[in-house]
Amino acid sequence: MLRFAIFGIENDSVNTAVNVLLLVLIVVWFALIFWTFADARRRIDDPMLVACATAASLFPFVGTIVYLIVRPPEFVDDVRLRELEMTAAEARLAQLDYQLCPHCDYEIKADYLRCPSCMRKLKERCYSCSKPIDPAWRICPFCEAETNAPTPSTTRRRRRQTTDQATVATEAPPELAEAAETGTGETSRRRRR
Ligand SMILES: [Zn+2]
Ligand SMILES: [Zn+2]
Repeated sequence: MLRFAIFGIENDSVNTAVNVLLLVLIVVWFALIFWTFADARRRIDDPMLVACATAASLFPFVGTIVYLIVRPPEFVDDVRLRELEMTAAEARLAQLDYQLCPHCDYEIKADYLRCPSCMRKLKERCYSCSKPIDPAWRICPFCEAETNAPTPSTTRRRRRQTTDQATVATEAPPELAEAAETGTGETSRRRRR
């Protein structure tokens, strides 16, 4: 059996037990120093602070307990991963102009003129600035040039009202006809002045 004479105790079974206990405590102490070093390296980016934490753990047990209290709550890798995820999410937000082709669900960008997968027409080209514009838009949002897109029904009705008062008066509901009449009355009054 191994005998430890560091404390000058020999040939006594009780003292041997004490020596074994001391050996266990020393092994645990060394293990805690190593654990503190390994844990600090995963949680702290600065090698100087890692060295400080390891040096603190050289104080048996108390150093490691103090380190446990003051150590950073997160692993450096987790912080990096979270930052990566944040940047990825930001990039995803920036790519919100990505849409799906209405015909084949292929991923397309907002300024594609034709779907690269099914080759169907997605956007028209503005005749003035040649930027891709939606066929439903009545005006190019980039250069303000008017497009030949069909106008919504409300404006069509208003246009007819101004051009052809008589037909509107017969076709439109009473309130509209009244409005048209008062409109003509006002304009005629203005003309009289
Ligand atoms: Zn398509
Ligand atoms: Zn344009």
